[in-house]
Amino acid sequence: MCGIVGYIGKKEAAPIILDGLARLEYRGYDSAGMAVFDGEKVNITKTVGRLKVLEELTHGGETMPGFSGIGHTRWATHGAPSNSNSHPHFNKDKTIMVVHNGIIENYIPLRNKLIKKGYEFVSETDTEVVAQMLDYYHKGDPLETILKVLNRIEGSYALGIMFTDHPGEIFAARKGSPLIAGQSKDGCFIASDVPAILRYTRTVYFVEEQEIVRLGEDRMRFYTMDEEEVEKEPVTIEWDADAAEKAGYEHFMLKEMYEQPKTIADTIAPRIQKDKIEIEELGLSDEEIRAVRKVHIVACGSAYHAGVTGKYVLEGLARIPVEVDLASEFRYRDPILEEGAMVIAISQSGETADTLAAIRESKRKGFRVLGIVNVVGSSIAREADNVMYTWAGPEIAVATTKAYSAQLVALYLLAVKFASVRKTIDGALYASLLRDLKRLPDQVELLLNNKEKIQHFANRYIGARDVFFIGRGIDYAISLEGSLKLKEISYIHSEAYAAGELKHGTISLIEEGTLVAAVSTQPALYQKIISNMVEVKARGAFLLAVTNEGNREIEKVSDYVIYIPETNPFFANSLAIIPLQLFGYYVAVGKGCDVDKPRNLAKSVTVE
Ligand code: GLU
Repeated sequence: MCGIVGYIGKKEAAPIILDGLARLEYRGYDSAGMAVFDGEKVNITKTVGRLKVLEELTHGGETMPGFSGIGHTRWATHGAPSNSNSHPHFNKDKTIMVVHNGIIENYIPLRNKLIKKGYEFVSETDTEVVAQMLDYYHKGDPLETILKVLNRIEGSYALGIMFTDHPGEIFAARKGSPLIAGQSKDGCFIASDVPAILRYTRTVYFVEEQEIVRLGEDRMRFYTMDEEEVEKEPVTIEWDADAAEKAGYEHFMLKEMYEQPKTIADTIAPRIQKDKIEIEELGLSDEEIRAVRKVHIVACGSAYHAGVTGKYVLEGLARIPVEVDLASEFRYRDPILEEGAMVIAISQSGETADTLAAIRESKRKGFRVLGIVNVVGSSIAREADNVMYTWAGPEIAVATTKAYSAQLVALYLLAVKFASVRKTIDGALYASLLRDLKRLPDQVELLLNNKEKIQHFANRYIGARDVFFIGRGIDYAISLEGSLKLKEISYIHSEAYAAGELKHGTISLIEEGTLVAAVSTQPALYQKIISNMVEVKARGAFLLAVTNEGNREIEKVSDYVIYIPETNPFFANSLAIIPLQLFGYYVAVGKGCDVDKPRNLAKSVTVE
């Protein structure tokens, strides 16, 4: 998920690799390492922590002479950040070196097979299996060996590979993770992204899915999985490094919004096997799931909003009572946890101080905690009894989008799993829920591709003073997050209200022209929200509705309607939030705000 850089040519490889990795730092990482080959001996240095540590350890690369090498910045997915889990990984004789971005989904059976054949593993990563398998299959022809391995691994990868019995070459391949190659008069390069090599060349090849690259000192060849050579045309990069970092998007936030289909798919896919939800990391037997009497969800900010949605979905599907708490409140209110209670703590960074304190409080009282966390090896991941990771990859923009979307689907998976074990849903509903879950990535993509319409609408509200979001049930949870997205990056005052609460006070704030966004994705509540919409319209509000395709009733009372595709109402948040994220984003862009780094906010809140 993070950075790969490889070089072979006329120059010292280590300084080029360090420089390239530094230009990929924006992607986020927790450890770094490189292997450099001088034709006789391979030098490997790897370390947990910042790239600076690797630079210091190698004196800026001086201690690692050689003209070919591969380097890596790791965002841990399997195994905590540690020196031994850092890349490159290698075989026992250190004759084969591998760096990898992505996830090898079937690494457990592959590793077990190799262990039976006498292989010993020194890390907890999924990646090491690639290095050991390369060793197992290598008979002298690297391309043949790589193909044998690629045909047996499942999941996503960008790989950089070196064989010491082929000193003049390095190899690379990709499937589902980014990889580019480049060429200059001094050598050939591979990297996860263009900025890593822009200092050396603007001649770049975009490596296609399931393509293999063979780099020599002065030439580069590309192969298909059938070992056929492909002719590729290089592209000359015209953009500057800053634009390149964001893959051409104007902001990280927009880039990350566009990564949501992948994030959702990555979080769901490994947990649906043969049309069944399997969440091994849950650590609960069916009997234990049946014994859960109550769920307490604790979180802060957007993760709390995901939790509010989780309450409606878990209660609705699995019929378990759920309480959702802001972690900062939970930790000091001496919460009453009864026999059979289970605590779920949600955090992107896994370092949120209040959520961590809430976990400690729950554990002190003797209760199990399940963490839903994005950062592997983070404090919450370590302290929770079990961890369900969201596979969103690093999120750079302060305002969360893709991590929130991943948290939502993690909660859906839990709810559907609990519901099926507790038999609160029948087989037909179970099957249709799984089908709807799998459709979410494409539906999110569709909504993202309609961004112009929202941009157009957002431009009208750049000067707004107050905006209100209203909804009932899950639509209230969506309103909370929609409102936060707008205010945190555009600095426009905005509030989310449970639609039924308006007449208990807030309605006095509605003036002529005030924008009210009504979220209406729950068919059972259509009529109820229409009444609330009419109430605010009568006071002069301009009504934006976010609703399901075909909901003509809402159209009649709204001034502007955004439709979301059909899904099970329990999953509507994942779709309805997309136009609201885009709305907040475009209002903030229109106002000229620093979208990725809003004032006064930090990405990971490690103070209470
Ligand atoms: N899955 C690999 C690991 O945990 C690679 C992670 C990455 O993409 O950085 O080591």
